[in-house]
Amino acid sequence: GKVKLTPIRQQYLKIKQRYPEVIVLFRLGDFYEAFDEDAVLVSRVLEITLTSRELGRGNKVPMAGVPHHALDNYLAKLVNRGYKVAICEQLSPPGKGLVERDVVRVVTPGTIVEPSLLDGTANNYLASVAIADDQAGLAYVDITTSEFATTQLTVDRLLPELERLQPSEVLSPRHLSFPGRTDLTQVATLTPVDDDCFELEAASQALLDHFGAATLEGYGCAHLPLAIRAAGAIIHYLQENQKAALSVLTRLTTYSTEGYMVLDAQTRRNLEIFRNNRLGTTAGSLLSVIDLTQTSMGGRLLKRWLGHPLLDLAQLVERQDAIEKFCGDNINRGRVIALLHQIADLERLANRVRAGQATPKELVTLRHSLELVPQIKAVLQDASAPGWLTERLQPCEEVVTLISQAIADEPPMNPEEGGAIRQGFSPELDQLHSVSKDARRYLANLERQERERTGIKSLKVGYNKVFGYYIEVSKANLDHVPEDYIRKQTLIGAERFFTVELKEYESHILNAQTRISELESALFRQICQQVGGWRERISILADTLAHLDVFSSLAEVAVRNNYHRPVLTNDDTVAINGGRHPVVEQSLSNDRFIPNDTYLSNKEAQLIILTGPNMSGKSTYLRQVALVVLLAQMGSFVPADSATIGLVDRIFTRIGAQEDLAAGQSTFMVEMVETANILNNATPRSLIILDEIGRGTSTYDGLSIAHAVAEYVHNHPRLGAKTLFATHYHELVELANYLPRVKNFNVAVTEEGGRVVFLRKVIPGGADKSYGIHVAQLAGLPRGVLHRAREVLAELEADHQQRLPKKPKGRGPHPPEALAQQLLLFGQSPPVVEEILKLDMDSLSPLEALNKLYELQKKAREET
Ligand code: ATP
Repeated sequence: GKVKLTPIRQQYLKIKQRYPEVIVLFRLGDFYEAFDEDAVLVSRVLEITLTSRELGRGNKVPMAGVPHHALDNYLAKLVNRGYKVAICEQLSPPGKGLVERDVVRVVTPGTIVEPSLLDGTANNYLASVAIADDQAGLAYVDITTSEFATTQLTVDRLLPELERLQPSEVLSPRHLSFPGRTDLTQVATLTPVDDDCFELEAASQALLDHFGAATLEGYGCAHLPLAIRAAGAIIHYLQENQKAALSVLTRLTTYSTEGYMVLDAQTRRNLEIFRNNRLGTTAGSLLSVIDLTQTSMGGRLLKRWLGHPLLDLAQLVERQDAIEKFCGDNINRGRVIALLHQIADLERLANRVRAGQATPKELVTLRHSLELVPQIKAVLQDASAPGWLTERLQPCEEVVTLISQAIADEPPMNPEEGGAIRQGFSPELDQLHSVSKDARRYLANLERQERERTGIKSLKVGYNKVFGYYIEVSKANLDHVPEDYIRKQTLIGAERFFTVELKEYESHILNAQTRISELESALFRQICQQVGGWRERISILADTLAHLDVFSSLAEVAVRNNYHRPVLTNDDTVAINGGRHPVVEQSLSNDRFIPNDTYLSNKEAQLIILTGPNMSGKSTYLRQVALVVLLAQMGSFVPADSATIGLVDRIFTRIGAQEDLAAGQSTFMVEMVETANILNNATPRSLIILDEIGRGTSTYDGLSIAHAVAEYVHNHPRLGAKTLFATHYHELVELANYLPRVKNFNVAVTEEGGRVVFLRKVIPGGADKSYGIHVAQLAGLPRGVLHRAREVLAELEADHQQRLPKKPKGRGPHPPEALAQQLLLFGQSPPVVEEILKLDMDSLSPLEALNKLYELQKKAREET
């Protein structure tokens, strides 16, 4: 027959029906319980016991619960894993009948506000994506700092921009598929939202309603429909899931990605900018070396700058100027840093105040931080820091005054606990306190008084929750009880009484207490609102302090690590003297890192072929050049004696062997896909770092691809990008013979007594030997293996001389244009060349090009 469900079960199912895609935590007494599939999931993720409970006869359902006081901990785990959780609370006091329950909040990775669930040093972004044709809209919000921004960009820039933001949650129309969507699920929670919320009409109305505006002109996005659609969907989503957050969103910025260097995920990873690949931690990354910020706001700003290098000379010079000021003034820099160290996360505090989430303690923290601002300002004036910085540093004295007058120095966490409001702030509150104090004093004296009056030595005055205050007299002494005692309660060995007077005082105390706690809460809310009114000012201050923090800490980094200010230009030369790898140098004890020079220029030294044995330092050198450029374009000083950096629009990196077996791609396939991406997207203003191409296939295959890629980079008119190409194919040094902008360098080694000694010095010219066997020896391969390897090598080299002529046969190596000219002079060209000349290089994918190359080579062999 049909199982009969208990009322609670019915209530649960009704609520769950509304939240099919999230975990529902259902408050039952002191626990939050999950049921059914939610219970199974929760018990697995949280490692808690899966039980079951009979809810209706014969209806046992799986159940898993967490104690209510530990909810935050468990929430953190669920949300960090990308789950969404609906918190269903009890809305009516437990008593008769079914307790009313409903979902009060849906906690998602992008909408958390609890400090315990947030990483203080990182922004927590909720992003939203809309796409039409080749255009995309991207909006994002951090509800803990109230940053809200939107942009419209071409679809191919969408993924890099998302990778830069590292949102914890991304909203997109339910039916939208876009490039990189699956990659995105690995780093962020993807939340499908009904397509309607992304409709232009609905989205712009949501924005207009939210801001109470009549037009979006003032927000800079009126003409950007996709930017509006993405931003409007965010508002809608917050309305549904995190209403409190809306009050802090007072601004929407429209920005453009044009002014920034593109940093794709591959390059972030390859250069270990935010994370060390081997360790998987921040330690050992570029960030860890340059992050000496003192405040959470500064830490977040530094991360933003590092992930968002600029192309704008003026803005960069402004940053450099500020850093330089602090570099030259050790004393004031030290002072600023020490003061910043005491500053709390004003940005998030101000938001919590405004959203009504702040505790009295947090207000006091806010006050302490604000009180330091005048001192910081004084130091800045003394240090003759940039005027704009000093001017923007406005202490919010009114807020300090308000908080110090209103809030006690050591208030409780919770305003209801009492004691948050300072004495003297509210006469009414003080009056209530004094009533309550008088009554307490009366009670404190009552026991002594009554003992004296009645002569009962064992008489006691006490209190309990149900009966209130009482006078307790043991059975033996009942005879001595005076007339005015009124019986209240009978115990086994005693009787409890009260008097009219006692009753009166009792009600004084209880009334006063209720009033005190009501009044304190009301006053606290009012103060929060007043402070919240200063939120704009506080957030400008927070932003200014963040800048100050980044400038002073980057100066500190520069002084400690001996960095210098690079000269930035808009032309196409990158020249570095005495450059070092900022992270590797830290791991070597004093001055053991060997500095190296670099000269790249589109006109003369466009393509550097770097050869050298394994372990000689090629990879380090390549990365060091990229990192110097990157640091320069975030405005920082660089690990070099001097440097001139022509601003670069994008750093492409193709480094090492990374398997993406999960995506079903072999090492070699990944390598080729990455190479294709570079060849298709680089511009003459890009910097390309190629660390080995063609390693994952047979030698001749690999060599031919490497060869062809180098030529392509050199000759293709759309490319011509500054390129560093490290390779163990020393055959490639011959490219310099016929490609004018190719320069050969190698990392020097010497041999001492048959052993290789690494000099770590990059010198002009190509390496002539590969020393792989030497390195194998260093690594401890058995002597027999080494000996045999030398024999095989000798044979192969002899063979190689015969089979593969050093130079291409016949017409010799020339750039294609010259070659074509020459052939025309001769009047007749062989069919292969005809075919080459007819090729439309632009329309070929790298893979097609590769196939074509094989085909051509085959034909050429047959013809010659
Ligand atoms: P492989 O071809 O095997 O990848 P490689 O030539 O790329 O080797 P790296 O990995 O760059 O070599 O460097 C090997 C080690 O040499 C580094 O771990 C580092 O400790 C050291 N090293 C590299 N460059 C320098 C330098 N300029 N000064 C001092 N030590 C260095």
